[in-house]
Amino acid sequence: MAENGNVRRGALVTGAASGIGRAIADAFERAGYGVLAADLSPADDGPGVPFAGDLTQRADNRAAVAAAVEHFGRLDVVVASAGFQHVAPIEDFPEDDWERLIALLLTSPFLLAKYAWPHLRESGDGRFQVIASAHALAESPYKAAYVSAKHGVIGLVRTLALEGAEHGISATAICPGYVRTPLVERQIQSQAEAHGIAPEKVLEEVILAPHAIKRLIEPEEVADAALFLAGPGGRSFTGVPVVMDQGWTAR
Ligand code: NAD
Repeated sequence: MAENGNVRRGALVTGAASGIGRAIADAFERAGYGVLAADLSPADDGPGVPFAGDLTQRADNRAAVAAAVEHFGRLDVVVASAGFQHVAPIEDFPEDDWERLIALLLTSPFLLAKYAWPHLRESGDGRFQVIASAHALAESPYKAAYVSAKHGVIGLVRTLALEGAEHGISATAICPGYVRTPLVERQIQSQAEAHGIAPEKVLEEVILAPHAIKRLIEPEEVADAALFLAGPGGRSFTGVPVVMDQGWTAR
């Protein structure tokens, strides 16, 4: 799957030290891709070739793409998964957190696409993926920056799909519901404060409330979707949110 002719395909995965990004880097490596695992501080014992960078910074997005090309001699797949969350009512929402969230969740995918574009075009079978969220399609209170950035990334992916079509590049946004990762574990605590309810009730009454199926998604399920979209079966998916939200947006 990871080979195009006799060539090993190269992938750049951001947010690869934890949660969904780590599961994706792991799955791609096991499938035979060369994986550049970019994160603020990637684990030395984690999957792929570690790359340390702050993806809220233009130079580090550029350097991550360059490092992937240097290591693998090509770049066929980009998966932007780096992210964080900040939960606060609008009147208290810290402006610095708004800017950091937009920088990481929206501007970093734009920069990665911009810098990777010539390499994805050269691949002839380039795949650009963003791990968006059900919050790209649905809204929740206290998450103004996250919801805005995730909605924006759908527009980015649709635009890239149109621009990439003639160059064999597809662009998709995977939109999971709640996934069992440290990001969600941290949210349980901050949601408890925002809603004024006990942390043990947050999972059941707040986190899983919008899901029709009342369970967290495992990171490996998202990795399976990313691997499929990067492979031959994913060729016709472009310009679309790929929704895996346990029935959230069916309501
Ligand atoms: P996570 O906290 O487990 O992992 C996120 C990773 O991003 C961390 O390793 C972190 O170090 C890295 N990161 C944060 N800021 C960075 C920066 N400035 N530069 C480089 N790396 C940085 O979170 P996760 O749950 O795996 O989330 C991954 C993606 O999936 C995010 O974009 C998130 O919005 C999205 N998502 C998560 C869920 C969920 O329920 N967990 C649901 C839908 C979408």
